Amino acid sequence: MWEPVDVACHRCRITLPLLDAPVPREAWWKFLYEHAYHPVELMWEHSEAHERIDIDYVEVNSDIRSDPSFAEYAGEWTGRALALHPRPVARAVAGIVRRAQDAMDAHEWRAAPADAVVAERLVRSMDFAPPPGETVDDAAVLARLATVEATLERLRRAAAEPLGEHFGTLLNDLLSALPTPADLPPDELRAESGPLASPRLWDTERALRLIQHLLWSITHRSA
Ligand SMILES: [Zn+2]
Repeated sequence: MWEPVDVACHRCRITLPLLDAPVPREAWWKFLYEHAYHPVELMWEHSEAHERIDIDYVEVNSDIRSDPSFAEYAGEWTGRALALHPRPVARAVAGIVRRAQDAMDAHEWRAAPADAVVAERLVRSMDFAPPPGETVDDAAVLARLATVEATLERLRRAAAEPLGEHFGTLLNDLLSALPTPADLPPDELRAESGPLASPRLWDTERALRLIQHLLWSITHRSA
């Protein structure tokens, strides 16, 4: 039986489905050209390896609006430079998120009554889905930075609350992987932005998006 296959680059955190049609074939050649010397993996869609593809991966031809279509990926994809820029923060956060998710799946996660309340409060104030191709001016960079800083501050305050052992440890691990205000100086972020957002800012937003996703499952789990 034929099963769909994706190719993933784990350095750039991007996946592409392999389809035998003209435009997807062009996209596949582009992928080879772009990622041939990177850690690339072929994976069946329903394999265990595929489950390791977290939401930080850009998925060509997904139904997420900020992801590129086959034609965009094969051609002039506006977000390319930013989307394929290394995301060290998101990568570190993805590892922490995966370990937490594994503990939940293995029923090793011990929750306290406050966990769900705190997770829900945090998640309600988070809405991180930055499209890489969005052009930004100074005001947009500062507005996005302010949103990031406010969320980081909420995470810091939540970590000081009486949480369950696992949730408390998780928040502290996440906070040590996330940048501090000193790592995100507004002037530098503005200088490295334009026309696309600053890579550091985008990396942090993608990391927060992973956390947002995990907090949803904590909210549902303890409900
Ligand atoms: Zn790559």
